[in-house]
Amino acid sequence: MKTVGCIGLGHIGHHLAANLLRAGYPLVVHDLDEAAATGLIAEGATWATSPAEAGAACDVVVTCLPSVAAVTSVVTGEQGLLRGLASGSTWIDMSTNDGHELRRLAGLLAEHGVDTLEAPVTGGCHNASSGTITILVGGDEEVFERQRDVLETVGGRVLHIGPLGKASVIKVITNMLAFIHIAASAEAFMLARRSGIDLRLAWEAIRASSGNSFILETESTTILGGGYDVGFSFDLCLKDMGLALDLGRELDVPLDVAGTVEQLFVRGRARYGGEAEYAMVAKLLEEACGTDLRAPGFPTTLEEYLEQMPRAAAD
Ligand code: NAD
Repeated sequence: MKTVGCIGLGHIGHHLAANLLRAGYPLVVHDLDEAAATGLIAEGATWATSPAEAGAACDVVVTCLPSVAAVTSVVTGEQGLLRGLASGSTWIDMSTNDGHELRRLAGLLAEHGVDTLEAPVTGGCHNASSGTITILVGGDEEVFERQRDVLETVGGRVLHIGPLGKASVIKVITNMLAFIHIAASAEAFMLARRSGIDLRLAWEAIRASSGNSFILETESTTILGGGYDVGFSFDLCLKDMGLALDLGRELDVPLDVAGTVEQLFVRGRARYGGEAEYAMVAKLLEEACGTDLRAPGFPTTLEEYLEQMPRAAAD
């Protein structure tokens, strides 16, 4: 069985690593914060002190990192993957990354005989935890087929989008839509509340309507519960919105709606901080209107909502 390395063990990365461990892959882990690896090490993973050390011990290394700069430093830093991965091994970047930078890094690794795939994920922490997260893959088809076992262990639906860089594009598009949907959900709830409609009924009605969305069905419930807790920060949101707006400029596509929504998230980060939950964009509107969006019976975290969902759906 391949030895797999996982670097970046945060909200998403630790679930991806845990899925590999549960399936029996020998696992090597690394993170800037060693404490992030405690649970995985207790279950049998081996700690590496640097990306280079992880790379040298593995056939495949998966990265799941919070910024373009973090990915670049993990690959090209003094103790980076470039110094560790042997010829014939593979790097799979599961971060939401910039396709141009990814291709540049892949070029450097190719000079050492190392293959690269990009494999950003979509579906949130709950789907990462249950091994059902969707994986969008970019890269050479033959390399993809060689790593299909790893990808299918980590996630659920695995879609090969095209050559390196194309998966980053579709991933950024899906997040752009999600960010627009969460901001729009907050505005919809505020209209309903101000008009005196019970918010649970409003949510049920929208869910059964042409205005429904994945975000309304799942993450928007944390607005109604008041916890806003979906495991996704303003910093990550603005990184991805920035990538979407860059694409718009590059491809000459005006992104009026996305540009306006980006500014809402800039305002949210200025008000609540970069590590705050991105669903707190709704709290900006609550503060502006002096009206909250609480609806009794909704949980504060997405995890709790998903545990209760069969009951909620039957209500
Ligand atoms: P996170 O901030 O929770 O975790 C990032 C981890 O990387 C942290 O443990 C941090 O210590 C580690 N790290 C940072 N820099 C490092 C470095 N130089 N070397 C080693 N470790 C380093 O982020 P996350 O929510 O897990 O997101 C990771 C990636 O997945 C991002 O690109 C994000 O856009 C993407 N993503 C996140 C979600 C989500 O719901 N959170 C969903 C889909 C995709």
